This record gives sequence, C-alpha cells and structure tokens, in this order.
Amino acid sequence: MTHGQADRGAGAVGAMTGHQNTINGPITFDGVGVHSGKPVSMTLYPADPGTGIIFNRTDLGEPVDIPADVTGVFATDLCTVIGDAAGHHVKTIEHLMAALLAMRVDNVLIEVNDAEIPVMDGSSETFVDAISQIGLLPQAQRRRCLRVLKEVRVEIGPCWATLSPHDGVRYEVEIDFEEEAIGRQSYVLDLMPETFARDISRARTFGFMKDVERYWAAGFALGSSLENSVVIGEDNEIVNPEGLRYENEFVRHKLLDAVGDLALAGAPIIGCFQSYRGGHKVNAMALAALLADPAAYEWTDAPVAERARPAASGAAGLAAAAYSADKS
Ligand SMILES: [Zn+2]
Repeated sequence: MTHGQADRGAGAVGAMTGHQNTINGPITFDGVGVHSGKPVSMTLYPADPGTGIIFNRTDLGEPVDIPADVTGVFATDLCTVIGDAAGHHVKTIEHLMAALLAMRVDNVLIEVNDAEIPVMDGSSETFVDAISQIGLLPQAQRRRCLRVLKEVRVEIGPCWATLSPHDGVRYEVEIDFEEEAIGRQSYVLDLMPETFARDISRARTFGFMKDVERYWAAGFALGSSLENSVVIGEDNEIVNPEGLRYENEFVRHKLLDAVGDLALAGAPIIGCFQSYRGGHKVNAMALAALLADPAAYEWTDAPVAERARPAASGAAGLAAAAYSADKS
C-alpha cells in the first residue's frame, strides 16, 4: 500500500471535475467504540487513484487490509461490520463512510488500532469538518458512478427499501416509530457535499433507555453515552440536556446511515434510494439486490464538467447535474 503519492496540481476546483480525489494529508481521530466501549485511534492517509477505501487493522500482529466493499458485509446488527474471509473485521464504519462519499473522497487508507471506528459525537460532523479542513487532492483518474437502470426492492416484514432510476443521487427515507418522541418522520436529500454537511452530517445516532440493559447484555452500546447518542428516556423525553440538533434529527440520522451503507458500492449511486422503517440490514440488502442483477445497473464515468443546468434550481438540479453522465 502506498500513501500520499497522488498527483497534485489541479487545485481545489478538482473536487468538482468528475475526477477522483484523495485527502490532502493524514487525519487522525481518537475516540471510543460506541459498541466496544474501548479507546481507538484511527488515521486516514491519502491513497493512489483506483485504491478505493481500505481499512487497515494495525492491532493484529500483521497489518490486515479490509476493503470497504459490499461483498465484505459481515453483520448489520445495530451497526455495519465488514470483514475478510479470515474473519478479521471492522465495525461501525457507516458514519465515516457517509462522510467520505458525501465529501467525494474516493481513495483513502484508514489505519485503525481496534475492531471499531471511533464514534466521535455519534454523527458524521467531526469527519466532515476534518476532511473540509485538510482539503481534497484531485487525481488524474475519472470517478466512476453506479447508475440504477431498473428498480430493485427488498423487504423484511414491514420494512422495505428500493433503488430506482433517477437522474441524480437521491435518498428518500421514512421512519415510523411507536414511541411518540420520534413518531413518523421523512426526509429527502439530493446528495451534494454542501447539502450533506449542512442538513445531515450533524444528526446523531439514537437509542432508547429501555433497550440499554438488553444491548449491554448482548455486548452492544458499551461505549454509548450522552456525548455520542441521543437518548430517549422511559417517559418519551430526550435525556440529553442540549436537546436535539434538528427537529427531525432521527430520520436525518437514518438517512446518514443509508448514505454510509450504500457507499459500500464503492461509488456514488445515480438513482433514488427509498426506505421505509429501514436500517443497516435493509440498506445492505438493497445494494446487494442491485448488484446481483446485471440488468439493474451499469458503471459509468462521472462527467468531466459538473455544472448546474440553468433550467434546474436548488439542490436537486445541482445533484442531477453533478452526477448525470453519458451512458457510454
Ligand atoms: Zn448511525
């Protein structure tokens, strides 16, 4: 694995040219695993064009590479876990994956000294801020996109998700909780770095006080706290003294998770992802269903020039312009 040999020179505008990007330098995050409860340190390094996103466990004697790919999805209980054939794995990757996809970081090597990514504040905000601060390094190779050609649908009981053709990168997520602190919420996002950073990245993970003991007994949420989760109490109240960051923070976080889980395609998906009462399992199933049907998708290069069309207005138009590529 080579680090930091990316080509320099195209300037900041390279983030918008349809070419691949890596980060401008290493970024380190120290924190705790929300499920393991253990301290963990993670460093993102620039990587060559075509590398994709690769996790590297540095705590196993010999370094072990685990590519961020949907074929490596290992488990989806309360978080997304990817692993290799030998059973080495890394968990809770989704908030970092969402930040990388949304901020258009195509190539990065992620060294991590434990089996779980640091949860930081339970959202993608710290990752987005750090990537924005260090900046992107444009690379010579074109970015690939995955274009949906035909709808695929997956279901688990009342929960479902679809991926369908759409001229843009859109997520439409709806949740419906019995608990009145959450209730029914929906959100639509046309993915752009700006829309993700402003409207989604700060939405935190959440959980119910009534579930805590069951989770702890199963070895989950051992690092969960008010510093990294929105907690809903026994009387349907928000326990966190600072309250919510967005009125509908819950559905926004579910959308954030969907962006991160679908990022395991290894490229932006030109299409519309819809889910109802979704979660990591349905997200992974939808992507697997798409990739299992060769007639349902095609790989395409991102366009060289990404400009908003004069006729389009708002984020939707920008998103469509940013990702509409030739079908060649
Ligand atoms: Zn999450």
